[in-house]
Amino acid sequence: MKKEFIFLGPPACGKGTQTDKLAAFLNLPHIDTGSLLRNEIAKKTEEGLIAKSHIDKGQLVPIDLVASIIEKKLASDECKNGYVLDGYPRSLEQAEKLDIINANIDINSNVDFKAIYFEIDTQILIDRIINRQSCPVCGEIYNKKYKPSKFENLCDKCNVALKTRDDDTEEIAKKRFETYYEQTAPLVDFYKDKNVLYRIDANGTIEEVWTRLLDVINL
Ligand code: AMP
Repeated sequence: MKKEFIFLGPPACGKGTQTDKLAAFLNLPHIDTGSLLRNEIAKKTEEGLIAKSHIDKGQLVPIDLVASIIEKKLASDECKNGYVLDGYPRSLEQAEKLDIINANIDINSNVDFKAIYFEIDTQILIDRIINRQSCPVCGEIYNKKYKPSKFENLCDKCNVALKTRDDDTEEIAKKRFETYYEQTAPLVDFYKDKNVLYRIDANGTIEEVWTRLLDVINL
C-alpha cells in the first residue's frame, strides 16, 4: 500500500521536525516546499527570484510555480512508495491541484492518504519562530530557547554555524500567520469532509508529539 501524508498547521507548529522524523521512520521521502523554494533562492534561479519576492512578504508563492515543483517530485521514482509532504497544500486551489496530481500518479496503486492537522496554542508560536535556527548542511532544526544546540550557534552533528531564516522575523511571521488563517486553515474542513483528517495535539515536547503521531499513523 502506497502511503501519502500531508500536514496542516500554523507556521512553527513543529511540522518540520515531526515530518522529518516520520519520513526517516517510514523510509519515505520528506518533501518540504519551503526548503525546495529556499534552495531555488540560494541557486538564484528565475523561480527563486520570484519566490523570494513573495516569501519576504509572508505571502504564498504563486501556485503554478509551487505546483510544477511538487508535480515533478511526486511523479518521480523517489515517491513510488509514497511521500511525506510538508508545506503543501496551503490553499484550497493547491489541495484541488494535489487531487489531480495524485489521480494521475496513483492510477494503478492502492493508496492510504492521510491529512494530519497539528492543533496548537498559537501564542507560543511567534516566540518559537524568532528563536529558530537550522543547520545549512544537514537541515537539523534548533531553537535558542526550546531546543538549543550544545554549543551556541553551532550544529551538534556538523559543527558548522547555524542559520536563521530570512523570513523568521517578527514582522514577516505575523504576516505568515495571517496568510495561514486566510488561506490554509480552510483546508481542515476540506479534508474532514473527505474523511481523511487526523487531528494531533501539537502542544508539548518533540517526543510527546511524536508518540501521538505514531498512534495516528498506525490507525
Ligand atoms: P515554510 O518553510 O513551510 O514555513 O515556508 C516558507 C515560505 O515559503 C512560506 O511563507 C511561503 O511564502 C512559501 N511557501 C512554502 N510552501 C508553499 C506553498 N505550498 N505554496 C506557496 N508558497 C509556499
